[in-house]
Amino acid sequence: MSAKFASFFYLISAVLFILSIGGLSSAKTARKGNLYGICGMALAIITTLMLPSVEHYKFIICSFVIGGCIGYIIAKKIAMTALPQLVAAFHSLVGLSAVFIAIAAMLAPEAFGITDGISVWRSLEMSLGTAIGAITFTGSIIAFSKLQGIVKGNPLDFALKNKVNLGIGALIILLILIFTFTNYHTLMYIITILSCVLGILLIMPVGGADMPVIVSMLNSYSGWAAAGIGFTLQNDLLVITGAIVGTSGAILSNIMCKGMNRSLLNVVFGGINSENSAQTISNKNNTNVKLCSEEDAAFILKNASSVIIVPGYGMAVAQAQHAIKELVDVLKKDDISVKFAIHPVAGRMPGHMNVLLAEANIDYDDVLEIDEINHEFAATDVAIVIGANDITNPAAKNDPASPIYGMPILEVEKARTVLCIKRSLGAGYAGIDNALFYMDNTMMVLGDAKKVTENILKAINTL
Ligand code: NDP
Repeated sequence: MSAKFASFFYLISAVLFILSIGGLSSAKTARKGNLYGICGMALAIITTLMLPSVEHYKFIICSFVIGGCIGYIIAKKIAMTALPQLVAAFHSLVGLSAVFIAIAAMLAPEAFGITDGISVWRSLEMSLGTAIGAITFTGSIIAFSKLQGIVKGNPLDFALKNKVNLGIGALIILLILIFTFTNYHTLMYIITILSCVLGILLIMPVGGADMPVIVSMLNSYSGWAAAGIGFTLQNDLLVITGAIVGTSGAILSNIMCKGMNRSLLNVVFGGINSENSAQTISNKNNTNVKLCSEEDAAFILKNASSVIIVPGYGMAVAQAQHAIKELVDVLKKDDISVKFAIHPVAGRMPGHMNVLLAEANIDYDDVLEIDEINHEFAATDVAIVIGANDITNPAAKNDPASPIYGMPILEVEKARTVLCIKRSLGAGYAGIDNALFYMDNTMMVLGDAKKVTENILKAINTL
């Protein structure tokens, strides 16, 4: 295939990727968006394989089959709750490939079609791509290990952390500049090692509650690393796609930071300490817990006229969404208004709750974002908090010492009655106690989210 045709097909792929992201921005159009993405990627792969520079298909087919099988098995087996760490693991591979390609292009430029020597700009692209790729690689491995529980999720702070990181960052920039003008190969290896160290040091001190932002930020890094490789390989589509991933990851990080009322700099360089605050709240309040049976919860719901359901990570663990759908149907039959309130960081990945609710065929129009529904809690009879914790913690508003202070929360405590369905008074992802459990209008219905919902449903049907 000629370069002109390839550019044309790459352009179509790029448009399909943009349509894909547009489609994925709403649950209603997400399937179509996914399809656009698949078509765009298939077209991009086929076009690349037909380029005259691709001479041997043996290794490509082998890699395709092996990679495809691994991808298929992972996609079939992965639990929805483990997707963030899977995404982090995939980002690490993007980062690693950026490093490998840049170093390979430096060692054998002709093999990459670079016949006119390595120019200053190309050296800059390569070294920058390597640095971003190496930071993404080790940073993503640490993010994966934290989310998977291999490394402790608490922030691991150390003295002079920010100064050390800034020092290494400055040294990397200096070495990139020297490499750009000298093309001295050893510098590239030093840049790679320093960037790998920086990736570890940057992500290790980040606490569990900030991990979603970090995964999204690493997503952005992996995009920029891919764009860097695109310049090295002179592949327009890789540049465009990398830039799309880079910017969309950065925008998502920004949205999540806003959702937590933090700045990105504060997330990356701030580091938080969750333990002290957890202790304080727990000791202060643990005498004031009201337990509620499933039958009592059923009675309260039956007599309500408006209900808002707040799902969280525990709903995903228990796979309670189908039972919840049945409960919603029964309540609606009794003319009770039922809505869902979604926090931007509920669950373990952006959109986690929306996907599960859509899977259970819950009406999209009943599912509202935090800004759309927060003002409604004060006029609501019952808020059901099901498997959610951090996203409802009033400490985010009232306790300046809390590690989540400043994060917008779903203001469930303003509802007349709050039914909290979870297995214990245990903490959520941020590792801190929740003052909501001890409030006068809160009732704890302890148990597995799915079983409790099913039992409430049974009890309602007998009323
Ligand atoms: P949390 O992690 O704060 O709380 C979940 C609660 O679910 C736990 O307290 C647990 O309590 C309960 N639970 C667990 N299993 C069950 C079960 N089978 N039945 C009933 N309850 C159960 O979740 P939230 O959704 O409220 O908040 C999300 C947190 O995760 C935030 O801190 C966010 O920053 C973080 N995060 C978000 C990501 C994202 O992108 N959305 C990614 C990574 C982290 P108990 O053990 O007592 O049952």
